[in-house]
Amino acid sequence: MEYKEIRVKNILVKCGIPGIDFVINPYMGCRFACKYCYASFMGRFVGKQISDWGNYVHIKINAPELLIKEIKKLKNKGKDKEIFISSVTDPYQGIEAKYKLTRQCLEILAEYQIHLLMDMVIFHKEFQERPSKGNMAKIVKN
Ligand code: SF4
Repeated sequence: MEYKEIRVKNILVKCGIPGIDFVINPYMGCRFACKYCYASFMGRFVGKQISDWGNYVHIKINAPELLIKEIKKLKNKGKDKEIFISSVTDPYQGIEAKYKLTRQCLEILAEYQIHLLMDMVIFHKEFQERPSKGNMAKIVKN
């Protein structure tokens, strides 16, 4: 299994899914390699084959700092935006326990009072590192 820290140029990516403005993927790749996964094509952006899906996870270590910068650039600091976490990776796969990128991104979105449960969808397969009750309460409140 390849785990690699990377730095990306942006983290809020415009999204073509109806009703969704941006997507955040804190990781590239996914350890689960579900047979039904549509995201294996993402490997082409990092020199991987579709058959490599499930064998690598790249960790976007600058995701939180970028998210703050990008939210600040949005009109109304993104309060009217729909944000989808995450479309091509599992945001709570095991490595999240170490890096907590998904958690940090959620906390930032909450801090900026983006309406998380109303405006955000979280897809994930693994439940080990869900937001703490305190953080979730904050998210719900917002
Ligand atoms: S957990 Fe999600 S992103 Fe990961 S392989 Fe399965 S469907 Fe794809």
